[in-house]
Order: sequence, then C-alpha cells, then structure tokens
Amino acid sequence: MHISSSNPYDWLQKSLETIHRANWYRQVKTVNSLPGALIELEGRKLVNFASNDYLGLAGDERLVTAATEAIQKYGTGSTGSRLLSGHRELHHHLESAIANWKNTAAALVFSSGYLANLGTISALVGHKDLILSDQYNHSSLKNGAKLSNAEVISYSHCDMADLREKLHQNRNQYRRCLIITDTVFSMDGDICPLPQLLSVAQEFNCMTLVDEAHAMGVLGDSGAGCVEYFNCNNYPLIQVGTLSKALGSLGGYVAGSRELIDFLKNRAATWIYTTGLSPGDTAAAVKAVEIIRQEPARIKQLWQNINYLLRELPSGKILPSQSSIICLGLNSPQAALHQSEILQQAGIFAPAIRPPTVPTSRIRLSVMATHTREHLAQLVEAFPN
Ligand SMILES: *Cc1c(COP(=O)(O)O)cnc(C)c1O
Repeated sequence: MHISSSNPYDWLQKSLETIHRANWYRQVKTVNSLPGALIELEGRKLVNFASNDYLGLAGDERLVTAATEAIQKYGTGSTGSRLLSGHRELHHHLESAIANWKNTAAALVFSSGYLANLGTISALVGHKDLILSDQYNHSSLKNGAKLSNAEVISYSHCDMADLREKLHQNRNQYRRCLIITDTVFSMDGDICPLPQLLSVAQEFNCMTLVDEAHAMGVLGDSGAGCVEYFNCNNYPLIQVGTLSKALGSLGGYVAGSRELIDFLKNRAATWIYTTGLSPGDTAAAVKAVEIIRQEPARIKQLWQNINYLLRELPSGKILPSQSSIICLGLNSPQAALHQSEILQQAGIFAPAIRPPTVPTSRIRLSVMATHTREHLAQLVEAFPN
C-alpha cells in the first residue's frame, strides 16, 4: 500500500464534511440557569422538554445542600478506586438505599450508568457465551456486549417470538447466555414486555440484565422502575440504572443478589479501575432517593402531565409511549431540525434526534413533574397538527 507523507489527520476534515452533508452534524448548546422546567438556553428563556430530570430534582435546594455539606466534610474528589482510598460511608448509605428501594439483596454504585453497563456485561459473559440484545438497546448495552467478546445476536424490537426463535436456534452452542434490554427505551419511550421476556429467559436458562435508566423515578408505585411496575421482583434479575436522570445527580448502579454484587466488586473493570463516585454526587443521590420515597406526589404529577400530553397531542404523529418520553416521528433529519427550530421559536426546547442515534429522525420530548399546565398547553399549541 502506498503511504503518502501528508498529514495523518487529513481524514478528520473529510469525515466532518460527510457528517455535515447528511445533516447529522451536532454541537453543544449552552444552558445558563439551574436545571428545571424553564431554562435559559443561549440567552432565551424556553420551556424545557429536553431534560432527563423527570422529577425536577437536579435543581432542588435539598440536593444542593446535601451535596454542598458532603463536599465540605469529605472534599470534592474521592481520590481513588473504591477498593483503595475511594470508599466512604456515603457510598454504603446510597447502596443500601438503592437495594432497599429496588427490593434486592444488594447494590453497587458506579461512576456512571454507562460504566455500570460496560463493566457488568463484560464481567458476566465472555467468548464462550451468548448475548441476546434488543435491536433498540442503548449504546452502553451494545458496547458492553462488544467489550465482553461474547457472541452477540440482536432480536427485533420487543419481539418475544423472535427472541425465542433465536434462542432456540443458538442457545445450546454456548455456555452462559445473557439477555439485555432497556426497560423504557430511551429514544422511543415504549417499554419492554418484561414478564414475557423473563419467562423466555427461564425456559432457556438465561441471565437477564435490564436497564432501568428511564424507568427509575417514573414507573412503579414507588418509582422503583419497570420491574416494580410489572411486579417481577421475585425473578433473579440484574438491574442496572442511573443516578443521572430522575435522581438528578451523576452515577450509575447495579442491583441484584449478594453474590452478583460481590462478584462485580472483584471482576467489573469499570468499577475496580476507576475513581469512586464523588462525595457531592453520592450525597445528592442519597437525598434524591429519600425525597422520591417520601413524596410520591411527584410521580403522580409526572403521570398527570404525561397523560395530558398523550391526550392532547395529535395521536397520529406520536410514536407509542408508555413513559415520560414522547416522540414525534419525522421523515428526515432536515425535517426534524426544522421542526425543532419552529418549536424553539414558540418558546419550546425539544431536540431533534437523528441517525446514527436512531434509525429514523424524530423530535423527542421529555415530560417533567415540574412542568405546569401552562407549559404543557404552550407545547400543545405550538405542535404541528
Ligand atoms: C442515559 C442512559 C444510560 C447512561 O447513564 P449515564 O449515567 O448517563 O451514563 C444507560 N442506559 C440507558 C438506557 C440510558 O438512557
């Protein structure tokens, strides 16, 4: 092969040009206010439908105070791996609170939900094993599967007949098998048929890992997620989630049996070889769990808001949703960008989600408990019909 002596980074510019041509180019936008239902985005006050802060806790004074006090007491950083100098009593409090809420024997917090998925999946299966993965799973599940070196087969979205057929064809050629799925799908807002999935898992002797990132604080009577919603607590499940969405902090967790958590502390590289969650983030998450459990009215209000929008928005254009994520399907990236711009002119922040994040472009709306009826009505008014 001919190797020219020109700049080895030339390809970056070409690649960026390709991204621009496809209307896939993205860039950051600066928010200049506390997180909440109303934000200041690049100098404009907008009603915020772009946040994962479903219960409005990220700007809550009680979380701010808890984080500040923890920082004053323990400093800004946790200074090392949890197995070396990085473990604090606060981590223990948070892990107990999550296990108690999730009704599991134990829990383990990671520095992000993404790292929780990478570390857990790659610790549980290897090259002799099989992973069955929903086609619409989050990037962290897909990359965790890649990192594990297991054989990965994806099944059609929420299609239990397809899952079953693929297990039937392949299961007996592998040692362990792990089924992985979002419970609330992050870019669609629908939910996985968990009871059916668990019965298939049982039939084929598979472990099951569910990602509750968008279900925690949203689904189930106490907000514990989709597992609570479907009353599937008694199944031997691996539950992953995040502290960064409804909990308003930063970090991730795994909840499950004592053996599982003990094993992960010894084998999950993204937990062992990274710095422990910071004192401020940990304390904020502890406070968030406490508030969500003491104030169930927040979840009720969130569902009143979701149901209002599902009733009032033009049903033909909305993708099926069973969560606080509501999507308007559009034909092209350009159409999605254009629609987002129109909404922004009407005072609404609702981002366009485009390939490669999703196969088809859309506007993605995140409903919050702290949206007022006026905020929701403003969205309905501005919506295309
Ligand atoms: C956001 C998200 C994650 C990652 O969580 P972070 O704590 O933000 O890293 C993982 N899985 C799903 C389904 C998500 O939506």
